[in-house]
Amino acid sequence: MNYEDVLSERVQSIQPSGIRRFFDLASEVEGVISLGVGEPDFSTPWHICDAAIYSIESGKTHYTANQGLFELRKEICSYYQRRFHIEYDPNENVIVTVGGSEGIDIALRALIDPGDEVIVMNPSYVAYTPGITLSGGVSVPIELRQENDFKLLPQDLEKAISEKTKVLLINFPCNPTGGVMSYEDYAKLVPIIKKHQLIVISDEIYAELTYDGTFASLAQFDEIKDQVIVISGFSKAFAMTGWRLGYVLANPALTAAMNKIHQYIIMSAPTAAQYGAIEGLKNGWPHVEEMVRSYRARRNFIVSGFNRIGLNCYMPHGAFYVFPDIRSTGLSSEAFCELLVKEEKVACVPGTAFGDAGEGFIRVSYAYSIEHIREALNRMEHFLNKFK
Ligand code: PMP
Repeated sequence: MNYEDVLSERVQSIQPSGIRRFFDLASEVEGVISLGVGEPDFSTPWHICDAAIYSIESGKTHYTANQGLFELRKEICSYYQRRFHIEYDPNENVIVTVGGSEGIDIALRALIDPGDEVIVMNPSYVAYTPGITLSGGVSVPIELRQENDFKLLPQDLEKAISEKTKVLLINFPCNPTGGVMSYEDYAKLVPIIKKHQLIVISDEIYAELTYDGTFASLAQFDEIKDQVIVISGFSKAFAMTGWRLGYVLANPALTAAMNKIHQYIIMSAPTAAQYGAIEGLKNGWPHVEEMVRSYRARRNFIVSGFNRIGLNCYMPHGAFYVFPDIRSTGLSSEAFCELLVKEEKVACVPGTAFGDAGEGFIRVSYAYSIEHIREALNRMEHFLNKFK
């Protein structure tokens, strides 16, 4: 039996992650140092771990409510209210998910019928386009450009809309570009979203990692708030990637629809992780602030480092990635990353892993220590000297 033939067309049509492919390549090279991984290098703050351990010790080892522990949902709502002035109700508007990843999946599956169009940024996080395909939708990419600070412009959004458009999927602060949208930037999109009755899936997982100015969300605009599904989670701000915990915030009808999928495929998010997250939201903020301070210092260090060694590098305003322009080398993104791993033992991710608009760029994570980044930059300087 040829097992390729039994696979669904949807699964056959998606490609394995371009990030993973690079890591497999890098793992074969001895002494390689990586600037590739999209996760905090910090360990989860101890008091969060403690709360989770204590929950297990006290026998809290069962399923929770499908939507998640009420206390956690209450803390999530109070956090969104306190930080971003957006009101949500713990019963009507929240589902605790298995990471932001599950949130993206259930949001898309709750909304998409075959052939529905989803407008997605290019470049964008690797899971979006495959997620759209798996839900039966059609991706309509909008190219984001460095000269526009990697923002989504109203005229580009207007152009991408057709009568089949149902969803706009955005992510600011953005993986991979580090671009952010301000309240004023979003205000220009609001009339378009309202006029065309778009549902916005807003992936705000990097909200806390905003370095200049304040984080803004489309859900802050009352006239379209009900059209916005917020995706977020604990992986980035609280350094909790391995705990697999996130959440979605949406109007009651959409929450109920997503919860139908969630209750059948997941039941409930990991219980100990939920107890840890309650502790994080209550008492974790000094740690978050400390990590953000550290990311900001690393951002400044790596951007000036790239510009010094001759790669034009945009100053990102959020997340923990830089997206340097490598076109001056004459190499494609893939060739650049392959040669860099082989010759200098530094692993980065080609911009094309995030969509074809990433050609000419590489994605570099700065969720690493300054010493680690310094060593990688030294090796890259040596590499770049060959192209002078
Ligand atoms: N969205 C974006 C933009 C991400 O970068 C990531 C993780 N790299 C996720 C969602 C998923 O995060 P998690 O499932 O760990 O919450």
